Amino acid sequence: MATSSFVFESAAQAAAVFGGDADGLVYSRFTNPTVQVFEKRLAALEQMQSCIAAASGMAAINLLFMGTMRSGEHLVCTRNMFGSTVNQVKNLLPRFGIETSWANSFEPDEWAGLINNKTRYLYLETPTNPLTEVADIKAIADVAHAAGVKLVVDNCFCTPALQKPALFGADVVIHSATKYLDGQGRCVGGAVVGSEELIEELTSYMRSVGPCMSPFNAWVFLKGLETLSLRMHQHSRNASVLADWLESHPAVSQVHYPGLSIHPQYALAKQQQKAAGGIVSFEIKGGTEAAWRTIDRTKLCSITANLGDSRTTITHNATTTHGRISAEDRQASGITDGLVRVSVGLEDVDDIQQDLDEALSAS
Ligand SMILES: *Cc1c(COP(=O)(O)O)cnc(C)c1O
Repeated sequence: MATSSFVFESAAQAAAVFGGDADGLVYSRFTNPTVQVFEKRLAALEQMQSCIAAASGMAAINLLFMGTMRSGEHLVCTRNMFGSTVNQVKNLLPRFGIETSWANSFEPDEWAGLINNKTRYLYLETPTNPLTEVADIKAIADVAHAAGVKLVVDNCFCTPALQKPALFGADVVIHSATKYLDGQGRCVGGAVVGSEELIEELTSYMRSVGPCMSPFNAWVFLKGLETLSLRMHQHSRNASVLADWLESHPAVSQVHYPGLSIHPQYALAKQQQKAAGGIVSFEIKGGTEAAWRTIDRTKLCSITANLGDSRTTITHNATTTHGRISAEDRQASGITDGLVRVSVGLEDVDDIQQDLDEALSAS
């Protein structure tokens, strides 16, 4: 509903709703009916209690950290996270006294060893961006719970249509709705999904700070949710065809896709996800120069850092999404200069394959 605030029957009703003594809608910064429907549906899809929508995925992540953590507390994160998440955790949170330890792998023992008595959350993405490494959510949730810590999973790549982290023990799920939940590259939005208690705490923070989702965007995302399962399965089918074909392409030295039997966590992905997802990344022989040349030669693929669109998008991560990270950190995360990420769209897969083939063969 496109309104900033809501009208009351009487002064007494206004006072009761403002004071929290009666249920009701107050102001769209923290209560809007369209946004609330989106929150309820996303929570239901994730099979979790509650959800709060935010202005973007980054706002959702910030809401969780700033809305619940205290100065002196600590996080454990994977190095292989979305670039802006790394920046927020590494450069912003220390200003508020929150320090982070970085795990180099998804080995549960490594995560257990990084927890201290100030640790509040273990935080990961699976599959990772852009290398599609798969974390064993249950194994890391067990490590978290044994230490009295909560596990947060950014479920942007799979969406609940393919993976429900709560079923494997995750306590909090993060979404960038900008990606597959919308699915057509129209709006920016995000969400935190978790227990009623957590979302209540975040709603109070939202009321004071205000990184809220616009009702119009919530309406767009609601339309996106209606086709989510259909789209995620088709993205996965197209991506599987391309990954199989790229694996034997002479210009490509390595393909990263959880649906390939050579993927190190192929079996785990099969058990944790309903399908392998729409993101394929691959290393082109010849570094940045060859990668840029290939990208520039594509005609059907859009050159953009966005992903999760119905249209195929192509990205050179080392110079865009991960460009602000030091070369050393990039190397440690395996983001090589020849790496290209394709967010495989819903076009006819033969057309996508032909476009990539022409671009690769000319190099
Ligand atoms: C895009 C993305 C985000 C950030 O979301 P925005 O909506 O762009 O703010 C967070 N996590 C992952 C995995 C993403 O791909």
